Amino acid sequence: MSAAFDSANLGGSGNSARRKLKAGVLGATGLVGQRLVSLLAHHPWFELTEVAASERSSGRRYAEAAHWHLDGPIPERACDLRVKSLEPKLDCDFVFSALDSSVAGQAEEEFARAGYPVVSNSKNHRMAADVPLLIPEVNAAHLDAILLQQKNRGYDTGFIVTNPNCSTAGLVLVLKPLADAFGLEKVFVVTLQAISGAGYPGVASMDIQGNVIPFIGGEEEKMESEPQKLLGRWDGARFVDAGLGLSAHCNRVPVLEGHLECVSLSLKKIASLNEVREALSTFQIDAALAALPSAIRNPVVVLDEENRPQPRRDVNAGNGMAAVVGRVRECPILDVKLTLLSHNLVRGAAGAALLNAELLAARGFFDRRVGITGEASPVAEQVTR
Ligand code: NAP
Repeated sequence: MSAAFDSANLGGSGNSARRKLKAGVLGATGLVGQRLVSLLAHHPWFELTEVAASERSSGRRYAEAAHWHLDGPIPERACDLRVKSLEPKLDCDFVFSALDSSVAGQAEEEFARAGYPVVSNSKNHRMAADVPLLIPEVNAAHLDAILLQQKNRGYDTGFIVTNPNCSTAGLVLVLKPLADAFGLEKVFVVTLQAISGAGYPGVASMDIQGNVIPFIGGEEEKMESEPQKLLGRWDGARFVDAGLGLSAHCNRVPVLEGHLECVSLSLKKIASLNEVREALSTFQIDAALAALPSAIRNPVVVLDEENRPQPRRDVNAGNGMAAVVGRVRECPILDVKLTLLSHNLVRGAAGAALLNAELLAARGFFDRRVGITGEASPVAEQVTR
């Protein structure tokens, strides 16, 4: 299944004669789905061929069904696509799922069983024992679980891969270089999460205007469990947790986009603040990963100003794919404290799923599915050469 990963051949210009991989988006009318539609508009490897959503939207032109929330117009190619239902009969090589969790669990399984690779944003399968919960910069080796998943579930070319919850994504990206350099013992995090994290229409304006809501259903549980899987390892048969002490407080604040997180942590090895800053700012992914179209070489950005990061000013750092860190300082209770920010709809959702799909494509995980349609995968051909 897995092709050799040769970044030198990725994204090359000699590929123009070969077709792009066809992508479908389930839940394309929602906030995350719209981001995916937008990010796919000029993607070098993927083209959007199908959009699907609820019965409310199906049968309508995408431009009519989607209540468009992004700046700029709906990408031209998407406007006339007819929104389909969740029947797994779409003309595409793989699907992204940005479905509401009330339907995502079953729909994603049905698509995987019908042979579609499913790259999901939803919470339903994240903690399953045979489903990779993936951040390419953190735990790409977890993709090895796909073979077992297919065997366990009797899937042929289909499978499910998920990205983490939006607040977990930024946190773990920042924890990863610290875990590698010093080891982590305990993490205490307080979040200030944007309203767009609740989807559309999300939190009522009467509830959130001039207010803070100190509760987001299920969020603290996700933040306390997902990092354990992400920072843990796949031992060939199961995921082994990282064994961190983790405590999360989650709050909804009247910010449109960008989750801010105040983090205190204790390290296994003693480290100075300069060493911590250095480990964060020099965190660099390898050249093969950096060659993925949505990847950035340094996914953690460290700011020196005492009043940063701020959602309005810093949310789009690294095209929304960076975790921005500031205020690295001593913690009188644990060892170190810092503030971090990440874009909930990009790094925490659509951009994360896109990067996951790019890694899957580059490693040849779509090849067998594409083979069924009788055409060779453009990306896999490049990376196997
Ligand atoms: P959203 O704006 O509420 O969109 C939900 C999507 O699901 C819409 O396309 C909707 O279609 C579709 N849907 C709802 N009920 C359906 C049904 N019965 N059958 C078929 N489709 C149905 O939510 P979102 O914020 O985009 O989130 C999408 C998923 O990503 C959720 O699972 C969420 O937890 C997860 N997520 C969100 C974020 C974030 O920051 N927002 C971050 C990470 C993960 P209609 O328009 O036709 O109703």
